Amino acid sequence: HIDSQPAFLQNIEEQPMRERKIFMNRKKSFANLLKITCVMVCSCIGTQLVWADKTNSESITDTAMGTDCSVRVFGSDGTAKDIMDMLSDIENKYLSWRIEGSDIANINENASESEPVMPSKWTYSYLENVLDLARESSGAFDPTLGRVSQLWNLESDNPYIPSKSELTELLLETGWEKINLGEGEVFLKDGVQIDLGAVGKGIGCDEAQKMLEEADADAAVVSVGGSILTYGKKPDGKPWKIGIANPRNEDGESYLGSLTIDGTCSISTSGDYEKYVIEDGVRYHHILDPKTGYPADSGLISVTIVCDDGWLSDGLSTACFVLGYEDSLPLLETYQAEAVFVTEDKEVIVTDGLKDMFTLTDSSYEQVEE
Ligand code: AMP
Ligand code: MG
Repeated sequence: HIDSQPAFLQNIEEQPMRERKIFMNRKKSFANLLKITCVMVCSCIGTQLVWADKTNSESITDTAMGTDCSVRVFGSDGTAKDIMDMLSDIENKYLSWRIEGSDIANINENASESEPVMPSKWTYSYLENVLDLARESSGAFDPTLGRVSQLWNLESDNPYIPSKSELTELLLETGWEKINLGEGEVFLKDGVQIDLGAVGKGIGCDEAQKMLEEADADAAVVSVGGSILTYGKKPDGKPWKIGIANPRNEDGESYLGSLTIDGTCSISTSGDYEKYVIEDGVRYHHILDPKTGYPADSGLISVTIVCDDGWLSDGLSTACFVLGYEDSLPLLETYQAEAVFVTEDKEVIVTDGLKDMFTLTDSSYEQVEE
């Protein structure tokens, strides 16, 4: 069974997608088949396999940050593996609220209103960015929804649908203003739990970009769940082609369309199809409206953001999903970001800066002008 790609964004052309590789190589040599089999086996058992190809690139697929990741690097031996290792590393050391001893877990456990915790400078500076986004989005992006997300438990096989009163009570212990930054220190109101799940994958892409610059790589594409970094120019001179997942996929089309990207860029998608449960005909998904604690219900089913920074594309995709189309526009302006919105009526709205780069391929959607 090879149909195991994440249901988010995929780089259609450039990724070491197992599925495509298989089709391309079916008629080729036994050696190639063996290589593909190894990749699949290694993916299944969670180990890494690096392989080089004729284009002087190295590719790896693996899981990191709780999601499927793939890294392809042109013109820099060993960097693909280093990036994959880094993704696990920053999750373990800094970002995960689940992993005891990480910066975020440490803040959640030990910081209070009077006793701050001093995390690494690295984590502190991302927290500064994240709080700016929380402020600019009027709290639609809220990094303190940890306990609410945990109650919903949508990442598990056993989600829970909370009552209104349970959520009302929990919301007393959320709100981005309950995080206060001092000189390198983080203060946190009692009961508040930070969750950087909405920006972590994008942060992974930003760190990958730094490593690619340091290694002087020619080009790369890095995919961490719903966030993708394209880096540099592909050796064949063609632009990167990034698929936008079909949020409903009723017609068997994996992508609703694609983006043609030239050079270095960050692209993230948030959608109501990633983690959800349907109960009595209602879809409960993982992107929460911080005002209610219930899944955001803004008329959108997916938002893709294109901008210069990974943390920002990731954070904005979540924020815009909560805000809805109209209210997202000023926020996109503030951060000079572009977007593809998909509404529940299967209408696709593309902001001006992306119109030349976007191609709709699934005819069950309609591109509209607003
Ligand atoms: P993403 O898939 O990037 O949109 O991130 C969704 C994840 O971020 C969820 O699984 C939660 O952990 C967390 N989250 C949910 N709602 C919000 C929100 N409104 N603001 C910030 N983080 C959120
Ligand atoms: Mg996000």
